[in-house]
Amino acid sequence: MTDERAPEVPPIGEAEYLLETPLKCSCCQQVISSVFIVRLLRVRVNFVSSLPRRGHVVVCPLCQGILSAELGGMA
Ligand SMILES: [Zn+2]
Repeated sequence: MTDERAPEVPPIGEAEYLLETPLKCSCCQQVISSVFIVRLLRVRVNFVSSLPRRGHVVVCPLCQGILSAELGGMA
């Protein structure tokens, strides 16, 4: 690896997904070809809340900025 923009950083999250088409990160403005997925685990909730127990965030592999977050939908 000789990409100077991406120094050796340990992988974050538990999964990496390739983008079908390279896209520009809205945080660092670099074109990325994959994203990391990090799980969201609920640790506190109002007892009347019907929010899902978990979710995930989509993270840029270069700047680690959060690009998107979603609750529920994943086992
Ligand atoms: Zn980025």
